[in-house]
Amino acid sequence: MLNCRDFAEQADALIDEELGPWQAMRLRLHLSACKGCARFFEQLRLTRRLSEAATAPGTDGDDGETARIDALLAAARGGVGGGAGGDG
Ligand SMILES: [Zn+2]
Repeated sequence: MLNCRDFAEQADALIDEELGPWQAMRLRLHLSACKGCARFFEQLRLTRRLSEAATAPGTDGDDGETARIDALLAAARGGVGGGAGGDG
């Protein structure tokens, strides 16, 4: 039976499904027997999902970046005259 340290080291691989069936089964056995690791694993999975969502290419929602790019394009075309150029 692997211990908590072993589990923690291989938890990432388990999420990525990079382990063989026997290794994965051993980890899952530990998960079912160890509440600490079960909680740890849930947190890890949540964190991974959040980071994946954060790094995924923007699809919908926030359009602040688009507005900035539009403004830059308008300025580049010479449509904007004057201004002290106080950008931050
Ligand atoms: Zn454990």
